[in-house]
Amino acid sequence: MQLANIVNDERSTSQLIARLQEVKDQLAAREEELLHAMVTRRHLHNTIQELKGNIRVFCRIRPSSEDESAFDDSNLAIDRKGEFAGRRLEITPPDAPKKYDFTFDRVFAKKDSQKHVFDEVSLLVQSALDGYKVCIFTYGQTGSGKTYTMLGGKGEERGLIPRSMEQIFASQSLLESKGLKVSITATLLEIYNEDIRDLLASSPGAKIEYKIKHDDDGNTRVTNLCEVEVFSAAEVESLMQQANAARAVAKTNMNDRSSRSHMVMRLCLDGVNEAGEPIHGALNLVDLAGSERLSRTGATGDRLKEAQAINKSLSSLGDVIFALASKEKHIPFRNSKLTYLLKNSLGGDCKTLMLVNVSPSLESAQETICSLRFAAKVNSCALKSAPSSKTKK
Ligand code: ADP
Ligand code: MG
Repeated sequence: MQLANIVNDERSTSQLIARLQEVKDQLAAREEELLHAMVTRRHLHNTIQELKGNIRVFCRIRPSSEDESAFDDSNLAIDRKGEFAGRRLEITPPDAPKKYDFTFDRVFAKKDSQKHVFDEVSLLVQSALDGYKVCIFTYGQTGSGKTYTMLGGKGEERGLIPRSMEQIFASQSLLESKGLKVSITATLLEIYNEDIRDLLASSPGAKIEYKIKHDDDGNTRVTNLCEVEVFSAAEVESLMQQANAARAVAKTNMNDRSSRSHMVMRLCLDGVNEAGEPIHGALNLVDLAGSERLSRTGATGDRLKEAQAINKSLSSLGDVIFALASKEKHIPFRNSKLTYLLKNSLGGDCKTLMLVNVSPSLESAQETICSLRFAAKVNSCALKSAPSSKTKK
């Protein structure tokens, strides 16, 4: 009797072991399928991004404030039907002999929320997480909504930077749950009069020399710049506060110095992807200096110097994008600090988004048209660089 029990027990144990092995094999097969699916997901995501264009241009109209007379929706009109729905903007300035129209990848209306804008941008954040280099610029005259778009306010008014952070940290913890580590390092600097200033330095006023160095692997470092490894969105927010406090204030009759300098927040995403390959993604979020021309700032002396430095660097940025899209041999990265700093994050399979902010105020009509022209020039590059055999969105 006892012997029969032992034999039965042994049989069931060996059955259990066999079953366990079967389940283990199934699990390994599923894991392999999942890995394959994740690699396919990355590949498809990148294909979609390339179809949308590695250089993309969005336009955003900010809502009008109570104390300004503004264009109404009929003379600053977004196409709502047809081929260019949500993409074409028609502007009829007061007393102008004609209408102007501009077509971009997307035009956001006054009422479009921060979430609306981020829904498009999050695709590029995903590309950075997949190991690509991404640059997102906000361009426009002072008061057009660049900083609002980048940083925004509280709650639903959170801008692109806090929303991108949330996406990155959520993705990081998902990867960690699969045993994959991605480290996130932040730097925050401003370029003022062609000089770099570290916004995270413990003594931001100190005279320190910052040199931009590019290595052969396509990575960029700035000597003496603080690099902070970050672990949560809240930590990044406190870095942003530190950076804002460090941005010196020197008033022009338009706005403070924060509008006269470019702010570059750079996140380096280093780790290993699902397929075990090393990734070195970068997300550069750039709040550009105000693009208004000299006459509006009433500038002389130092202010004149500031305005000239801004003009030069903004036109260099346009020239670099144009040269990259035209596949020119010489790309004039060295013509400004900003383009030299971003050399490894522009062109090739890097992704660029130019988000042009415009004001609806009638008083700003001329500046608005200038901004839209700049955007249209970048957009024409984007069309040039899009793969011709594929249909662009
Ligand atoms: P810039 O950085 O281009 O100088 P700001 O982002 O500071 O301009 O915007 C100017 C003002 O307009 C700010 O008071 C800002 O809060 C407001 N603003 C800009 N865009 C929007 C928007 N989409 N929705 C609500 N308020 C906005
Ligand atoms: Mg600003």
